[in-house]
Amino acid sequence: MNFVGSHILSVDQFVRADIERVFTVADMMRPYALRQKVTRVLEGAILGNMFFEPSTRTRVSFGCAWNLLGGEVRETTGIKASALAKGESFYDTARVLSGYSDLIVMRHEKSGSVAEFAAASRVPVINGGDGANEHPSQALLDLYTISRELADHGKTVDGMTIALVGDLRYGRAVHSLCKLLAAYQGIHFSLISPEALKLPDAYVELLRNHGHQVFESDALPTGIQQADIVYVTRTQEERFDTLEEAQRYKGIFRLNQAIYTEFCEPNTVIMHPLPRDSRADANELDNDLNDNPNLAIFRQTDNGVLIRMALFALILEVSDQVEASSRAVNWYTAKRF
Ligand code: ASP
Repeated sequence: MNFVGSHILSVDQFVRADIERVFTVADMMRPYALRQKVTRVLEGAILGNMFFEPSTRTRVSFGCAWNLLGGEVRETTGIKASALAKGESFYDTARVLSGYSDLIVMRHEKSGSVAEFAAASRVPVINGGDGANEHPSQALLDLYTISRELADHGKTVDGMTIALVGDLRYGRAVHSLCKLLAAYQGIHFSLISPEALKLPDAYVELLRNHGHQVFESDALPTGIQQADIVYVTRTQEERFDTLEEAQRYKGIFRLNQAIYTEFCEPNTVIMHPLPRDSRADANELDNDLNDNPNLAIFRQTDNGVLIRMALFALILEVSDQVEASSRAVNWYTAKRF
């Protein structure tokens, strides 16, 4: 794909070579994310970080990624603080905001909203999550993490076994990840969810049509056996008609150290797009896993910065200028990775 000036709306846009290209540029960004070096390659550029739905990681890490490349960030958070709450259309909002920014990241609760916004935007738009539909940058950072974690154990994405656990119906991170993984080969998918929250048929068919094996169940202990990766998700309570309905599914699957020790392989990697719901009625990923070296959730969030820097650099065509505008940092830097 031609990244330059493109919107990133869906992982459908990426073939395997494109994914690898993003990962190569992400690797190059590590010294900047680690604060070993500073680059000013986007000095003078402005990011419009438009989040009309709650976000912590995605919003802040997109902003940090842009800052680390030397640019400035302007943002809005929550629909109530924007003119969309006064009835303004996506078209008008996009025409206005794209006059202020060099690139826009947008999140909104409605599926397809970011594409609608992008169609009217005068600058590239990245989908920061549109309803239950897609979350492309999350899927890229997840796949980047999977490939790096597996490589540490001498394994590859091709041929791996991955267990996807929880709300597979509404979880947009899982939807985008499945589409990306379809481009790889010979993957065993273990889909663990309550019947009502199964992965939509279209994704299951996509995976099977690409030659992957898919097993569906509602039993955590058997489903996670032999998995190289266990990817746990949160019940997406904001997508249900009522909170009471969502409540029925909370806490059904809980992974903790005892279950991990009994059923997982010694080096099974534990992932979650976060936030993990740590309230007592859910507690899907127990705090007693925090010292487990295979818990990769904070490596995922760190990797999110690298992937988002890579997307910016590729879309704005500066990936080969980053080094030229770099220098060493001159302040105390804590060890992060
Ligand atoms: N942070 C992810 C998302 O925005 C996952 C989640 O919210 O459960 O989709």
